[in-house]
Amino acid sequence: MVSRGEDRKQSVETTELSIDDLMQGDVTVAVEATTVNYKDGLAITGLAPVVRRFPLVPGIDFAGTVIASGHPDWKKGDKVVLNGWGVGETHFGAYAGLARVSGDWLVRLPDGMTPLEAMAIGTAGYTAMLCVMALERHGVVPSRGPVVVTGAAGGVGSVAISLLSRLGYHVIASTGRTSEEDYLKDLGAAEVIARDELTGPARPLGKERWAGGVDAVGSHTLANLLSMTSYGGAVAACGLAGGMDLPSSVAPFILRGVSLLGIDSVMAPRALRVEAWNRLSVDLDRTRLAALSTTIGFDGIVAAARAIVEGKVRGRVVVDMAR
Ligand code: NAP
Repeated sequence: MVSRGEDRKQSVETTELSIDDLMQGDVTVAVEATTVNYKDGLAITGLAPVVRRFPLVPGIDFAGTVIASGHPDWKKGDKVVLNGWGVGETHFGAYAGLARVSGDWLVRLPDGMTPLEAMAIGTAGYTAMLCVMALERHGVVPSRGPVVVTGAAGGVGSVAISLLSRLGYHVIASTGRTSEEDYLKDLGAAEVIARDELTGPARPLGKERWAGGVDAVGSHTLANLLSMTSYGGAVAACGLAGGMDLPSSVAPFILRGVSLLGIDSVMAPRALRVEAWNRLSVDLDRTRLAALSTTIGFDGIVAAARAIVEGKVRGRVVVDMAR
């Protein structure tokens, strides 16, 4: 539970709750697996104001089984996935092990996907899929040229690389951890470049290096991505691991017709979520998924949250609630 004292400082502790303590909702889910995303890291450490109701059970995503439902779409025994909708921010989240939520927020777990696999993907991986779908909608297909992925060794980055390479793209992975080159190449990266190449101030227009990109970093990195995107290309921006600012110019937009595609997973409409989860069940190589995820138990959540905001987590962290 994340609480806030009179000094407005946040703290986190383990407490006992009863089912009656859960918040309002028409579906109750037994959480089998959850995860530690970057946003969970911010919520637990209090490094950014993610939690907006105190006290709060964190955990922005989960997969599990419906144990009670008053919603017409769901019945006891259904396997479901939830991402976002303010869960783990303003509504009690996954880490209680039981979650009572609105049935409108749930997506059916794709056939053949286990709750642990769904959470190896988690919100980071589902967001990576939303980014890839946005690039496709914009016509950034493999024949248009390479695509770059920033924050490559993180959760969004690792899943984006796996997806894009499986779909036939030439993927350039940008990382601050060049020691992870073998890991990134195993996921499908064709080239690995150092993060530093993209963290300096961006020129209005740089050399055209890629047809598109998936950016989890923001700030100068996103500005550089835009300035190096080839004519008519696009960058899907979903993250701020390097900063919330965007020190760019209009040059890529008005001189090269480059597009900046904003990606939000939290309030994404249901149809897009269903499409993303169905695509993930088909387009993501399960062997690579296993390679990019680490499984912990409930007791490891707080340490993983601290590690992820320090940029020390590789790939995805899955929480097996049965451990
Ligand atoms: P993550 O696992 O921590 O990955 C972030 C990666 O960014 C790190 O692994 C690191 O990769 C890189 N990085 C960290 N600090 C950096 C810095 N100061 N400068 C440049 N690069 C840095 O987190 P995640 O769960 O993948 O999430 C990534 C971002 O996407 C976060 O900002 C998160 O809030 C955002 N996000 C947004 C949505 C949405 O709906 N828009 C959904 C999910 C996530 P390397 O070590 O490889 O450089």
